[in-house]
Amino acid sequence: ATDTPKDKGTFIIATDTTFAPFEFEVNGTRQGIDIDLMNAIAANQGFEIQWNALGFDAAVQAVQAGQADGIIAGMSITDERKEVFDFSDDYFQSGIQMAVKKGNSDVASYDDLAGKNVAVKTGTSGAKFAESIKDQYGFAISQFADSNDMINEVTTGNSVALFEDYPVLQYGIQQGAELQTVTEPEMGDAYGFAVLKGQNADLLEMFNTGLQNAKDTGVYQTIVDRYLKSET
Ligand code: GLN
Repeated sequence: ATDTPKDKGTFIIATDTTFAPFEFEVNGTRQGIDIDLMNAIAANQGFEIQWNALGFDAAVQAVQAGQADGIIAGMSITDERKEVFDFSDDYFQSGIQMAVKKGNSDVASYDDLAGKNVAVKTGTSGAKFAESIKDQYGFAISQFADSNDMINEVTTGNSVALFEDYPVLQYGIQQGAELQTVTEPEMGDAYGFAVLKGQNADLLEMFNTGLQNAKDTGVYQTIVDRYLKSET
């Protein structure tokens, strides 16, 4: 896939499939904070985007394999990932939180996960966090490639809890997902746009310049408000 010469001004950008409010589809139209922000930055900096919505783990791998130039997918900036990717300036603060099925009063803390099953999304910081505490609290983990499948696992009762980024949980619950949070969010990492380490430095620089411009001109806030402004 890397053999095909690319138009200098067009970049393949990988993203997640369903990660509202950052990327999701409504009536076949892809939208979300990541999508709108990246499109605004591209317009401002004068480059074209070829979107490739692959799912989170697949998007990460596509960049590593050179099949995509960059990834914007609510991707947390972590020290471990910095060994493989170069990250942009951060653009959204996040962190991990546990959620259980709405109305479930059996799980109020991590202690209540003992002997139970927990759902996570493959390759995410939520999965990594669950992995890091599973022995301490004695729970098992089931992995899913897609957030919707992970949520269904909990609403159908196969797993008692999931670990997901709190802005995504808050948005989902507000939109009617049958979930509730019962614990405080964990300290977390902010989101960044990423390219493969040492590659596409020009693209990364354009992202940072365009992000700063979007913040200075109010475009960034307009995009965030489009999805997160409360109606009240
Ligand atoms: N922020 C999380 C991570 O980087 C999850 C991203 C996602 O699921 N799209 O691992």
